[in-house]
Amino acid sequence: DVRHGPILYLEDVSVSFDGFKAINDLNLTIDDGELRCIIGPNGAGKTTMMDIITGKTRPDQGSVWFGSRHNLLTKNEPEIARLGIGRKFQKPTVFEALTVFENLELAMAMDKSLWPTLKARMTGEVLARIEEVLETVGLASLSRRQAGILSHGQKQWLEIGMLLMQRPRLLLVDEPVAGMTEQEMERTAELLLSLAGKHSVVVVEHDMGFVRSIARTVTVLHQGSVLAEGSMDKVASDPRVIEVYLGG
Ligand code: ADP
Repeated sequence: DVRHGPILYLEDVSVSFDGFKAINDLNLTIDDGELRCIIGPNGAGKTTMMDIITGKTRPDQGSVWFGSRHNLLTKNEPEIARLGIGRKFQKPTVFEALTVFENLELAMAMDKSLWPTLKARMTGEVLARIEEVLETVGLASLSRRQAGILSHGQKQWLEIGMLLMQRPRLLLVDEPVAGMTEQEMERTAELLLSLAGKHSVVVVEHDMGFVRSIARTVTVLHQGSVLAEGSMDKVASDPRVIEVYLGG
């Protein structure tokens, strides 16, 4: 049940570092329930864009809206996270000494607003949520194992699971398949596709085969703005995109 209307809206966003425009009049619209891939050469501004959305970097100009109600430029990082924007960095950061289950439990507890009721809810709602997330990320059979023994791919899925504990509306995912085996990449594609619809998902990824396997719409960033946007076939055959990728 894919919803419609934008979940995220960036208009004419710019930011400079020491006079260098890392983001330059960027316009981007992500629809609710969409799975969008962002590609672009090194230095294109992908990380800076994610930093702007999550409130880590303040743009010099432009506007950033979450849904139609939330002006993100008036909010700080924790406030933006609480609105339902979850970010996964490239390297998995799970708690290796804890079990898979405990990692998910802890991810729930990180939402401080739940602390007063967490103890009471632990028996019911939270347990149900953990079970659901374990199924979603395919780690149900490993829930009592220590996270440290998981494969690289399984750690990435666990970390996505930890984000899902907070029921984010928008997930920002940075290079999810870096270092994964073919099989792990296939499972990650299935996982991200299964999240779309329930969540909006923005994936920054270098692996073009992977991007092709998951994205309906691809946005190509270059020099801090959108160079091309559309289906993978459309952007891959765009002469400007080819020039940027081949070094022109
Ligand atoms: P990408 O993620 O697409 O590789 P980035 O967003 O990391 O691109 O970087 C875009 C440009 O902005 C690069 O030229 C980078 O060197 C520069 N940049 C990013 N963050 C900073 C910063 N905090 N200070 C100075 N320059 C930065």
